[in-house]
Amino acid sequence: MTEPPNNMTAAARAADIARRIAAAARSAGRDPSLVRLVAVSKTFAAPDILPVIEAGHRIFGENRVQEAQGKWPALKERFPDVSLHLVGPLQSNKARDAVALFDVIHSIDRPKIAAALADEMARAGKRLELFIQVNTGAEPQKAGVLAPGAPGLARYCRSDLGLELAGLMCIPPADEDPARHFTALAALAKELDVPGLSMGMSGDFEAAIRCGATHVRIGGAIFGER
Ligand SMILES: *Cc1c(COP(=O)(O)O)cnc(C)c1O
Repeated sequence: MTEPPNNMTAAARAADIARRIAAAARSAGRDPSLVRLVAVSKTFAAPDILPVIEAGHRIFGENRVQEAQGKWPALKERFPDVSLHLVGPLQSNKARDAVALFDVIHSIDRPKIAAALADEMARAGKRLELFIQVNTGAEPQKAGVLAPGAPGLARYCRSDLGLELAGLMCIPPADEDPARHFTALAALAKELDVPGLSMGMSGDFEAAIRCGATHVRIGGAIFGER
């Protein structure tokens, strides 16, 4: 990860990242408005996040339901137009809490989670945007459905549960060229006919945008070291 300049505030770093995102999109011949910046605020508390919201940013990501419950209900009450994205793994016993708090889930990786979310969305009368996480590097320690299982999981979500899918998400292996994984995810999204591609983090978001990312998830380059 590139070290964020520590003489800048988080709000200034978010604005700087937004400019780099727009520049990367334009140089790839893409419409910059089609690339969303998800500012990943995990491990940071409300006082660190608030200035970034006050500066106008509205899309945030968290990786744990319970941690998010400690800070976001109050922030969302003050700023109801904030869109909150769950980017970390979800347990089915947290599906109700996740549906109550989040607007977008990036991490569906098995039928049980998809079914729990479908139930809870129906119960709450709320529709979230849903991404399937794909473990493109087939890493045993990493969440995500293996690529060969993705079409079956997508079919289950759509046909059995009647869910609409917003896209696919991946986290490439740390020690490999991420572009290969971004390209594979883009090809899979095309095959499955899903519009969104959640890929790219602090260290590789420009490569992800070249490969078609619609959502980049940036933590450290905005909020600093965790
Ligand atoms: C923490 C996290 C990010 C942000 O990572 P940085 O390298 O800090 O930008 C993105 N996606 C997921 C799933 C994360 O958990």
